[in-house]
Amino acid sequence: VVEIGTPERSVITTCAYCGVGCSFKAEMRGDELVRMVPHKSGEANRGHSCVKGRFAWGYANHKERILNPMIRDKITDPWREVSWDEALSFTAKRMQGIIDDHGRHAVGVITSSRCTNEETYLVQKLTRAVFQNNNTDTCARVCHSPTGYGLGQTFGTSAGTQNFDSVEHTDVALIIGANPSDAHPVFASRLKKRLRGGAKVIVVDPRRTELVEDAPHIRAAHHLPLRPGTNVAVITAMAHVIVTESLYDEDFIRERCDWDEFQDYAEFVALEQNSPEAIQELCGVDPQELRQAARLYATGGNAAIYYGLGVTEHSQGSTSVIGIANLAMLTGNIGKLGAGVNPLRGQNNVQGSCDMGSFPHELPGYRHVKLDDSRNLFEEAWGVQIDNEPGLRINNMLDAAVEGSFRGLYCQGEDILQSDPDTKHVAAGLAAMDCVIVHDLFLNETANYAHVFLPGSSFLEKDGTFTNAERRINRVRKVMAPKNGYADWEVTQLLANAMGANWNYIHPSQIMDEIAMLTPSFAGVSYDMLEEKGSVQWPCNAAAPEGTPTMHMDGFVRGKGKFIRTEYVATDEKTGPRFPLLLTTGRILSQYNVGAQTRRTENVIWHDQDVLEIHAHDAENRGIRNGDLVRLASRSGETTLRAEITDRVSPGVVYTTFHHPDTQANVITTDYSDWATNCPEYKVTAVQVAPSNGP
Ligand code: SF4
Repeated sequence: VVEIGTPERSVITTCAYCGVGCSFKAEMRGDELVRMVPHKSGEANRGHSCVKGRFAWGYANHKERILNPMIRDKITDPWREVSWDEALSFTAKRMQGIIDDHGRHAVGVITSSRCTNEETYLVQKLTRAVFQNNNTDTCARVCHSPTGYGLGQTFGTSAGTQNFDSVEHTDVALIIGANPSDAHPVFASRLKKRLRGGAKVIVVDPRRTELVEDAPHIRAAHHLPLRPGTNVAVITAMAHVIVTESLYDEDFIRERCDWDEFQDYAEFVALEQNSPEAIQELCGVDPQELRQAARLYATGGNAAIYYGLGVTEHSQGSTSVIGIANLAMLTGNIGKLGAGVNPLRGQNNVQGSCDMGSFPHELPGYRHVKLDDSRNLFEEAWGVQIDNEPGLRINNMLDAAVEGSFRGLYCQGEDILQSDPDTKHVAAGLAAMDCVIVHDLFLNETANYAHVFLPGSSFLEKDGTFTNAERRINRVRKVMAPKNGYADWEVTQLLANAMGANWNYIHPSQIMDEIAMLTPSFAGVSYDMLEEKGSVQWPCNAAAPEGTPTMHMDGFVRGKGKFIRTEYVATDEKTGPRFPLLLTTGRILSQYNVGAQTRRTENVIWHDQDVLEIHAHDAENRGIRNGDLVRLASRSGETTLRAEITDRVSPGVVYTTFHHPDTQANVITTDYSDWATNCPEYKVTAVQVAPSNGP
């Protein structure tokens, strides 16, 4: 028991872990944070929290945090601690030198989904207005970029359609490739409350998640344990049942969607090859169970879809998202309370980082760089010319680095060496550059290849906003002064000015004012209005001054909803005699991603290990007992971890988490990626498993 004493004051701010965006009171004694208490008026959490937001903030004071800038000429040199002035002048000179010698397209940035909207906006502005190219990308590339593409094509905008309150009006929840109990716990508890109240749940997941097996009284009405990589076939088979049994909402489709496109789509899904019986062998799902699930989704009342990275991180991630949007339009489950299509965003501000123009083809507010009107607006405001060609994605930057044409990268709050696929290729790209700038709290794996380390500030040390998975713009408030001297937005401004810009922001509220001026969906947002209302969901503008809890109520953003055929194409990652099992991955409640923050918080619950879940049938065939060390190998690489024998996975499928750097899950995964967005196919890897004597 730790005696914390009586707090003297509190500051209301927002959790910096997942996309639920829980509001907390940070309770202070003097300058010391003593406790985080979930805020009862927080619209996303209503007084609830999970273990990470409540207890895992100690990393902000961890001894491994770097507080002074460091530079080095070559990555083989030791780091040299320097003043901010020297670090910024060294960085500006190197980046400008690259631009002078190799052209303005030889440098770029990676924005962070952990940083605020205002910070992300400034980083993409740095590349567009100072470097004068569109080479900006974000970690959404490796998680929800297929959501951006799929929902953009079908609905006209990529954001989740509902607020979290909407689940209280849901009769059927279809959960696809998501495990909210572990990854979005506060939303999961709201969902489970509704399920205890009588709503039904359908879980489409290779694994028996907590929603399927453990929770009393809320057993899944249907669990479709599909073979990893077959989402598109299962989603299309559900549509087959709905179309061939005439369970679709014709009035909705005629009024809200393009009827000709619907007819083409209906003809396609009705083909016998898309029936539950025809895909049974491919997907491993009982056809009768699939038929019943489809009927329940179509006829069970308000039906809402919630999905996660089990949908997007596939070679057909974008096709699956399109298939999900098709299901919602087919049944009229969009544009009303209790329904909708809701991507469960992983990181605290991944929605915001996409909104703020982090993609190489889109300016803030999802406006394509080829659109003259949009570009002109920014050019006039910023006093520069903006490239009218899309820039490089992360993987293109790394390819170009290996080829020699891309040579400088500013990487804010993102450890690409640990979190991106094909670790060897990422390392080769970084090693080939002349200037890698890492702006972060800790010396991460990417920093091994950096020439400049700029210390970052934690969420406790800055003002700003995060946008959660329901498009809710929440205030982040400074609880204490930045231990490193500057909030991240100040560092980006200093770097821009060292390279010749003349930015004069003195508070993030001015950056938000600029965002509001240039981005129609944020036109009504200001810090004053956020003080008054607490939070608001975009679009917030003259047409929606109170914000927009439910989207597409009177029409889709693109006008008519667009049905698109969803042909199943098998991944190139195949099992065979050498690699007979399929590996898929996920998270546990107490850890967050690669554990950079949770593992740096003192508490016994953070001392777990990644394990390999394996079915008894597969374990017995290999002479593996519960708790044995096993060697997990794929065509890309191998690692060692302990086996847990379980029936949560089916024979032929194994599962692990990726929270500990020692496990190195991304050494195992392949470099296949989504056909539309290059989102890596993290969720399907052919592997072999054998007993091991240790690493
Ligand atoms: Fe933070 Fe997400 Fe937990 Fe809420 S549910 S406390 S936002 S990690």
